[in-house]
Amino acid sequence: MKVLFSSWLGEVVDNRGKPPESWSDCPAVTLPDTFGKDRPMSAFIGWGGVVVLNESYDIVETAYKYAQALQASSCAKCFPCRVGTKVMEDTLYKILEGNGSDSDLVQLETLCGSISSNSKCGIGQLGPGPIKDTLDHFKADYQAYISGGKKRPNYHYPYKMTAPCTSACPTGMDIPLYIEQIKEENFAGSMATIREASPMASSLGRACFHPCENNCRRDNVEKSLAICKLKRFAWDYENTHEVDMPLNPNKHTREERIAIIGSGIAGCVTAYNLALMGYRPVIFEKLTRPGGVQLTGIPQYRIPLESLDAEIKFLEGIGVEFVCNVTFGKDETFQTLRQKGYKAIVLATGADLSKGMRTEGEDQGYEGYYGGIGILKKIKYENAEIPKYKTVLTVGAGNTAMDCCRTFARLGSNSYIVYRRTEKELPCDPHEYAESLDEGVKYMFLEAPKRIVAENGKVVGLESVKMELGEPDDSGRRRPVPIEGSDHVIEADCIISAIGQDPDIFYMGDEPKIKLNKWDNPVIDEDTMQVIGVPDVFAAGDCAMGPETLVIASGHGRRAAQSIDQYIRGEEIHLSDEQIMENIIRKIGAYNKNEKVPNPKGWERQPIPICDRDKKLSSFEEVELGYTQEQAMEEAARCMRCYIVGMACVISDSEGGE
Ligand code: SF4
Ligand code: SF4
Repeated sequence: MKVLFSSWLGEVVDNRGKPPESWSDCPAVTLPDTFGKDRPMSAFIGWGGVVVLNESYDIVETAYKYAQALQASSCAKCFPCRVGTKVMEDTLYKILEGNGSDSDLVQLETLCGSISSNSKCGIGQLGPGPIKDTLDHFKADYQAYISGGKKRPNYHYPYKMTAPCTSACPTGMDIPLYIEQIKEENFAGSMATIREASPMASSLGRACFHPCENNCRRDNVEKSLAICKLKRFAWDYENTHEVDMPLNPNKHTREERIAIIGSGIAGCVTAYNLALMGYRPVIFEKLTRPGGVQLTGIPQYRIPLESLDAEIKFLEGIGVEFVCNVTFGKDETFQTLRQKGYKAIVLATGADLSKGMRTEGEDQGYEGYYGGIGILKKIKYENAEIPKYKTVLTVGAGNTAMDCCRTFARLGSNSYIVYRRTEKELPCDPHEYAESLDEGVKYMFLEAPKRIVAENGKVVGLESVKMELGEPDDSGRRRPVPIEGSDHVIEADCIISAIGQDPDIFYMGDEPKIKLNKWDNPVIDEDTMQVIGVPDVFAAGDCAMGPETLVIASGHGRRAAQSIDQYIRGEEIHLSDEQIMENIIRKIGAYNKNEKVPNPKGWERQPIPICDRDKKLSSFEEVELGYTQEQAMEEAARCMRCYIVGMACVISDSEGGE
């Protein structure tokens, strides 16, 4: 992007004095043109440097405000950070007020160096860097204040403290803090921190695909922190010890009821946050018990029913009501819920219809042919008797396909994955792939299904065509191309389609104002989760934006609850400045995989204990056993507390000031 000035990641681009049409590009950083929808933004300052977008900036005021944010973010455990950032803030204020001198600039430079090299975490280590950049590259701006006469503009400076791991987490969980609390043996504090972002610590700690760990700076040293499994430890500790469970001081302090349709993670998190605000959320569930995909789709060996039940019980204690055996669109509708006085309706019905493979024979009702989500539900939720199949082909290679193939490996079948690309393009979590191999699953790569072969109404094989990889498609992966004349039949008595899911939207017809996109999701404002054109209806989770992960659905729930609160209070539904900052920081990228992190190597990640291998292969017992207290504290101690602060300069006369 074109900028007036940038020192981002040490790459200096300086277009000052040049006409905008001849500004050179700044490849190191991408920023939005505006702060939120339409507020003009002129600069960004943060852990990677300073970026000035246009002439409406004041670098000295920006540096002062940034020093103030660092001081406010300091946990005060290190003397150089606690005291140094305060001295920095005061000195910059003195300069801004026209009382500074050249010796103040020298002192600031010295302070930047000593705070950076003597502090323990990102706030102290990385925070002074951009202030030093302003001193190095904007001397004349400082001199204008020192020589007197310059008046500060009082722009608005929203800021956000985050960390690379936190920024990658869709719930915005304060990961460094909950890990530090585990390290300090403050497990209740750790759970409280986790619950500020999501109440589903067990589900997430067991089955999240942890984007945070792919953005962990410790990976630049040797191996990322076991962020996910530490969360599970905190929950397991609480669940297995006599501890005081947190109460909800606002429980049912408001009269308004909100109807939430679906009891998966999006619905539960929406309800939890509404309950904390004092509302009376009621979750309607079509099945006999709550839990969504954790109940029906994620196998027992990954999320045991017992741990899910404990999460639901906790939510009930906080003030969430569950009403089961209610099918929305039949037993209740938009109209009946409105007539009963519900102030808002949240659609959180997931995506529980298996996509067809568009393969001849799949609509014939053959015995031995299943949709992935359907068969997982039969096994876990219905506890149904499944015929003993000799050879099971699971078509697809995403995480639902992994759940299917690993399930049938446990049921004693020869379990295969049929995938039209190669190992390199596998879309599933690498850990799931490794586990499936360990459990004996075999892979047939470069195969695409063409026809279900059946005899007497029973599956006997899959006609498949061999593929080869061609040019990359829109997803960047090489497109599989059929090899002419390569059709062949793979013998099998069971075929599972696990190539994706669709939302079940039969109830949408009751509210004609809801528009659907081409994937049958309601058209929503993705910032606020409000359904466009129907102000009292919100959507969250897979039904809102298509099949995604548990943690994305959890993030939706938090945002939906905030929007519903604003809606009920009659306010404009909007993102807070902090949330806008969070989005900007995500866009910039808080994690730099090329960063040379100076910490010494060699503190290896604690391996997660797993159950006895025979049990693992022959039963649905939980595979991962969780850390012991000693292991968890040892693992937590590896965290480098990589907090960073990002701040924008927003042109606004109404806010800012001191
Ligand atoms: S631990 Fe980090 S925030 Fe706390 S005082 Fe040290 S450098 Fe500052
Ligand atoms: S080391 Fe800790 S704070 Fe740093 S990115 Fe990893 S988990 Fe987050």
